[in-house]
Amino acid sequence: MNLWVLIFTSLFLSQTPPQTADGQDVDGNWAQGRQLVLTFDDGPAWETTPVLLDYLDDLGVKAIFFVNGRRFSGTLPLTQKNRAILEEAHRRGHVVGNHTQTHPMMSQTPPEVQRKEIERTHAAITRVTGVAPWLYRPPFGGMTGASRVVLRELKYTNVMWNVDSNDPFQRHVNLAFQNVLRDLAQFGRGVALFHDTNAWSVEAVPRIIRSVYLDNCQRVTRGEPVVEFSNEIEAFWQPRSGKPPEPPLVRLQEAARRRARMSAWCQNIRKGAGSP
Ligand SMILES: [Zn+2]
Repeated sequence: MNLWVLIFTSLFLSQTPPQTADGQDVDGNWAQGRQLVLTFDDGPAWETTPVLLDYLDDLGVKAIFFVNGRRFSGTLPLTQKNRAILEEAHRRGHVVGNHTQTHPMMSQTPPEVQRKEIERTHAAITRVTGVAPWLYRPPFGGMTGASRVVLRELKYTNVMWNVDSNDPFQRHVNLAFQNVLRDLAQFGRGVALFHDTNAWSVEAVPRIIRSVYLDNCQRVTRGEPVVEFSNEIEAFWQPRSGKPPEPPLVRLQEAARRRARMSAWCQNIRKGAGSP
């Protein structure tokens, strides 16, 4: 494939959301490989999200941000600051998903209000990033039949999680770190839940990533597949029957490059190298 075809294909893929054929949820337990997706809910937050964006850049990881529309809509100085952060997250290659406008308990919300909650944030994200979101995370993890109707119309994939930092309840960097690594050891892959509105969650992230990278070096020497940070939810779509579809060539090439970088980083680790 020549360079221009590759660039065009990459642009096309980044702008055109792939869709699940049958509207199934993603929960992180099944994946084509050993992907780990970091997801951050309830932002954007001008106090804490910028630090996180820098950590993710330094360590070469792309994430998914499930945002609430009320935090970055309107003319208040605070919401304008948050809007700039959201623009920046999108510009740096992170995926932005819909977490409703005001974070209500959807099961206690009338169906027509549930629709507004999803549609308003859908429009707000599209205005800021120029890309229509297609990933949804229900507030409090509470999915409803009325929400599903709207999500199906808008061609969303619902993204739950199997790796939980438990950061709203265990408000300490060490606990978020331990919780995520414990769940990752159990499942070997997954979708990890954090809240980037918490300073302790943000501080746990670089420790988690470095720890996974160091474990990957052990896996490389044992000839095992490494855990790959990814924000491509498509890898988690479980085929209902038959073999999963082959990932597009551009994704396979990127995965091969990531593995090569990881391998080189592991060889240089004693020299104090940065991120793979
Ligand atoms: Zn939330």
